[in-house]
Amino acid sequence: MGRGAGKAELQKARMRLSLQEHLWAFFQERVAIPSEEQALARRAALDICAELRVFLHAKLPDMPLREMYLSGSLYDDLQVVTADHAQLMVPMILEKNLWSPIPGEDTIMNLPGFWLVRRENLEYFPRGSSYWDRCMVGGYLSPKSILEVFEKLVAGSINWPAIGSVLDYIIRPVVPSETLTLEVQYETDRRLYVDFLPLLVMEDGVSLIAKPHRLAAERHENLWRQSFRVAETAKLRALDQEDAGCRCTCLKVIKAVCKLNPALARLNVSQLTNAILLLSEQEGDWTQEALGDRFMQLLRALVGHLEAGRLPCIFNLKVNLFCELTPQEIDELGYTLYCALSDPESLLRT
Ligand code: GDP
Repeated sequence: MGRGAGKAELQKARMRLSLQEHLWAFFQERVAIPSEEQALARRAALDICAELRVFLHAKLPDMPLREMYLSGSLYDDLQVVTADHAQLMVPMILEKNLWSPIPGEDTIMNLPGFWLVRRENLEYFPRGSSYWDRCMVGGYLSPKSILEVFEKLVAGSINWPAIGSVLDYIIRPVVPSETLTLEVQYETDRRLYVDFLPLLVMEDGVSLIAKPHRLAAERHENLWRQSFRVAETAKLRALDQEDAGCRCTCLKVIKAVCKLNPALARLNVSQLTNAILLLSEQEGDWTQEALGDRFMQLLRALVGHLEAGRLPCIFNLKVNLFCELTPQEIDELGYTLYCALSDPESLLRT
């Protein structure tokens, strides 16, 4: 090796070391949330969940629901920057013989990762045989209509100011909101957003959530979104456990980067998790010392996926996790990340 090349190597090694150090410092200072803050947020979410359970049982005893539960990164130790949101999962019970799931790729929309839920046997079991028939639109179970039912209940008929004063929180439904969201102010300067997320668990274990397609054209209105979140999170954690790896740390850092940089806000946790899982298939060294290298590789991989306009979900390669981004958004994200490749630390100066 010539002297010049040796020097360049050394400089590269120094840059890598400093990125590694910066990433860990950023993690400590900006990404990780103090455990007391997490505990307070979880407490507030739990209080709201308990109130809603009581209210729904009393008000709608025959609505076929399983017990609601809280979920999300706040519960998986994957939340970053501030403990400010959680999902309240509302599992709905469907009669197996009356409703059947149809994968999006088998519909005219040809959209893997989304599903329709079709009402069956209407001739033998007429409208009204299933509680959820009231949310049927054009022969399909409409997530939009279900959200509207809950919205009327949660935003319209619960006396949140009264409950809030008992719990010593200020609670209000967020309007307008893409999903149904409650804002809970549990300290003067602390707010928690709780998303109401109706959920169907189908016979083969497929989870469908009532979260609308982002580019909601009218023809997309009946689509249910398949959720891979449980599998994605479990896989990431299992891989880290096998080799004491830094994949979860890497995910938290890139999540924080996306949360703190408005130009990257469109990248969501599912895309980021899958990009890391795909990288894990190629790359074996996820030791804590490799965080800097893996982070750079992740940025490069994301740029590559954005250039291709395609990021497959590892649990179903037909699903394109970028399918809800417009071409312009894809270009802008790609450009921002591409620029960051030559100065990755710029992403941490927020
Ligand atoms: P974070 O919001 O980036 O911290 O990521 P989370 O891991 O908490 O994921 C929450 C996002 O995933 C929300 O936008 C949810 O709507 C969506 N999501 C999809 N499936 C699920 C699921 O099964 N459970 C939860 N909690 N959220 C889900």
